Amino acid sequence: MAVAPELLDRTDEQRAITEMVRQFVDEQIIPKAEHYDHEDLFPEPIVEQMKELGLFGVTIPEEYGGMGLDLTTYAMIVEELSRGWISISGVVNTHFIGSYLLMKFGTDEQKETFLPKMATGEIRAAFSLSEPEVGSDVQGIKATATKDGDQWVLNGQKMWVTNGLLSGLVFVLMKNDTKADPPYKGMTCFITEKEPGASENTGDYAGLVIPPKIKKMGYKGVESTELVYDGYRCPADRILGGEEAGLGQGFRQMMDALEVGRVNVAARGVGIAQRALELALRYSQERKTFGKPIAKHQAIQFKLADMATKVEAARLLTFKAARMKDAGQRSDVEAGMAKLFASETGKEVVEEAFRIHGGYGYSKEYEIERLYRDAPLLLIGEGTSEIQRMVIGKKLLERHKI
Ligand SMILES: Cc1cc2nc3c(=O)[nH]c(=O)nc-3n(C[C@H](O)[C@H](O)[C@H](O)COP(=O)(O)OP(=O)(O)OC[C@H]3O[C@@H](n4cnc5c(N)ncnc54)[C@H](O)[C@@H]3O)c2cc1C
Repeated sequence: MAVAPELLDRTDEQRAITEMVRQFVDEQIIPKAEHYDHEDLFPEPIVEQMKELGLFGVTIPEEYGGMGLDLTTYAMIVEELSRGWISISGVVNTHFIGSYLLMKFGTDEQKETFLPKMATGEIRAAFSLSEPEVGSDVQGIKATATKDGDQWVLNGQKMWVTNGLLSGLVFVLMKNDTKADPPYKGMTCFITEKEPGASENTGDYAGLVIPPKIKKMGYKGVESTELVYDGYRCPADRILGGEEAGLGQGFRQMMDALEVGRVNVAARGVGIAQRALELALRYSQERKTFGKPIAKHQAIQFKLADMATKVEAARLLTFKAARMKDAGQRSDVEAGMAKLFASETGKEVVEEAFRIHGGYGYSKEYEIERLYRDAPLLLIGEGTSEIQRMVIGKKLLERHKI
């Protein structure tokens, strides 16, 4: 009889790579995160080291210069990075989604052009669906693409684009047919090139303006911006998958990518919760009240027990969803469950760790203060908790139709 593999088992390669990333996080990210967070500075030196470690090409096939690793290993890496600072995982997240889109739907020419430079981190990718008036209801976007000769002219405003300024590529969803019924049939993903760091693009990339970065509660360091497409000309061969195969396929392609994106956000939830648990375990043994360490009070021990249990459950759900995807199994429900549970766990465990820190948790001198501002993002990005419940409920009913 086949024995089910342990969900938390790691191969030698997975163990080696997660240990390497953990060491990098302990030495290079955790001691520096507060500085970059407080100044809201892009962590350039850390990102440069990540390029050297190959972390921008983890899932890109070896033939394009990447490591060719699977989603499960990627999720393990993201957990480690997020344990250090979720903004760092934000720098790689949209890049990972962009490379997934290229690997799954790109033409050979698109893969050959972009994947080698993406594997090294020479160019980084952003992923753009949201608009000022639309987030959850993706089919309601208003930005348009109109054919003009052998080019498409893009117009419209995008919102909340992580890596919006410093990326060199944006995978952007546009409406090529505003009258399509249902709307998703008239939506296309364009690979728009831009000059990294330029707020106003010129030359071949004219018509794309990036307004100043949005000021945020947390998730600092990595920039979130609007993108204003105003007559940006995109060659037809920059439609994801080519014009013939890709026109009108953007919604389906991007929803597919969001499924792996959800596993990625789940791993971030596990990482931030794991760090909060570690901080709480340490602080509760150091801080004394009523003559003993607060960890000796049963009320605090119960908190720690619940926190650790949730972290473990979130990790199991996350790896299960990743492993199913890697095995080619349908994993829409599982990815939704992992994202929902792990992001809520991130917020809850961070809040409990914050409470355990008492007044000091409110001080910027303590790491938990940053985690408390960072964790809520995970409830929103890649689909809110309400949207996850909608996805899980709908897919469950499809699977169990009577
Ligand atoms: C820091 C940050 C980074 C981001 N990065 C990116 C990025 O890189 N690319 C990108 O495209 N987007 C990005 N986003 C946008 C993010 O994906 C959206 O904010 C998210 O999808 C929610 O959309 P919304 O903000 O428009 O909220 P809305 O869709 O307006 O929702 C508002 C509220 O209503 C609820 N709601 C909506 N519809 C329903 C329903 N049918 N039933 C029940 N409740 C519902 C929602 O759950 C939410 O609570 C980012 C957002 C943030 C904050």
